[in-house]
Amino acid sequence: MSHDAKSKKAKPTETKSLGAKSVGTNIQGSRLIEESFWERDVWGDADVSHQPDPNLTPESTQEPITIHEGSSDHQPDTNTPTNSPDLLVIGGGIVGTSAALFYKRAYPEQHVVLLERGGKPTGASTRNAGFACIGSISEHQADLQEASRELVLDRICHRYEGLKFLRNTLPDTEIGYEPCGGIEIFTDRDTFRACEAQIGEWNRELAARMGEREVYRVTTVNGMDAIENRVEGALHSGLMMKALHRRADEAGVETRWHHEVTHLSPGRVEVSQAERSQSERGQAEANRVVFTPSRILLATNGFTETLVGKLAGTQASATGIRPARGTVFVTRPIPNLPWRGTFHYHEGYVYFRNVGDRLVLGGARHIAKQDEETTEFGVHPGILTWLTQFADQVLQLPRGWQIEQQWSGIMGIAPQKEPIVRELQDRLWVAAGLSGMGVAIGMKLARDLVGLMGEPH
Ligand SMILES: Cc1cc2nc3c(=O)[nH]c(=O)nc-3n(C[C@H](O)[C@H](O)[C@H](O)COP(=O)(O)OP(=O)(O)OC[C@H]3O[C@@H](n4cnc5c(N)ncnc54)[C@H](O)[C@@H]3O)c2cc1C
Repeated sequence: MSHDAKSKKAKPTETKSLGAKSVGTNIQGSRLIEESFWERDVWGDADVSHQPDPNLTPESTQEPITIHEGSSDHQPDTNTPTNSPDLLVIGGGIVGTSAALFYKRAYPEQHVVLLERGGKPTGASTRNAGFACIGSISEHQADLQEASRELVLDRICHRYEGLKFLRNTLPDTEIGYEPCGGIEIFTDRDTFRACEAQIGEWNRELAARMGEREVYRVTTVNGMDAIENRVEGALHSGLMMKALHRRADEAGVETRWHHEVTHLSPGRVEVSQAERSQSERGQAEANRVVFTPSRILLATNGFTETLVGKLAGTQASATGIRPARGTVFVTRPIPNLPWRGTFHYHEGYVYFRNVGDRLVLGGARHIAKQDEETTEFGVHPGILTWLTQFADQVLQLPRGWQIEQQWSGIMGIAPQKEPIVRELQDRLWVAAGLSGMGVAIGMKLARDLVGLMGEPH
């Protein structure tokens, strides 16, 4: 799945046009809503913008500083404790929430505020397909065309260690983790043979580094050539993020939903508090709030350049992170669903898994890569058609299957797929560009970042 990061064209042998005719598919009536299956399942009406958040600390209920439009020179009251936290984290996905949690645990006396523009995490963390994966052989082989073998091996190990760390932090039962392994399927014999020939070497190298023997082995599934990875699994992204936010609340992190950062500079962050204002006061215009934190952490992944580009003293594209939209859908329940477990196809670009009797299928960004380099949510019709044809013609879902819900998520792709974790300007840190691997590496990266930031000043 991290192969959403690839910049080169897909191999036609593996992803040739799947044929024009869609067999027995009905996507009419499916819900095109910008909410994922995982969000609907878990966050549902818990959109905290519409009700008081019982977890907010007393300070956070005080009136915000309202600045009228055009008064950006307004100096905030820096003595207001609520709006001058020790650490202000921007972005309530897995990275921002984990960083806030670990910082607060490390320095309990510090005031840590987490700002999220949505009423729930609204980027990639609740909108992926719930794969807990370290990558398929064809993905690793493709990565070797852009990075050294050492770097690719390091990346696999980071994903492996990251998943272990995630599961140690949040118990399997809380995140719906299933140790089902992962299976890469092939429709092209030559590609399969080429990957099969590499299994031995990858297994040797990974055994030496991860201590796991025989990670990959050849298998068949539904009559197709396949390679199994026995150390992967699946989880429920909504449950995972809910559990993580619960931990942050319990640790004393003050989360402010519907707070969208509009401008930032070291020591000063401007926020638009639109939704809360609308829902609570019936006002159409947003309140503007200014924070003057001691430290800032930008954990906005695919949206990072939007903010960093406005930062004085930085070039546009200071981090080099590009947004990349990913499309996912879930079917209605399919009796006797023939695919159970987690599956990859074509260098990780395409992925599918069962959730009960439903199939979750996503990816295929490689067929419209430029279009998908966007921070706008939305489902690309060409990609949706490709995926439905894949479901019909390759997966051979029974006639009459239907899409129940479709959604998109925005990833952040860093150069060489190496996340950007550094102090961008004085006391302004960034941890972003998870490059389609944030479920696996996001929490551990955040924990390591807290170590890197060092003691509060
Ligand atoms: C379709 C899809 C499939 C994926 N598959 C996998 C996979 O198989 N394995 C894997 O490991 N990873 C996968 N990922 C990637 C993984 O989900 C991400 O890497 C990870 O969730 C990134 O976490 P994050 O916290 O950095 O970013 P996000 O989860 O995007 O969090 C950033 C947050 O910042 C908020 N924000 C943005 N701008 C502002 C602002 N101005 N003010 C306030 N808040 C703001 C957003 O609303 C968002 O909630 C996939 C992602 C997608 C979309």
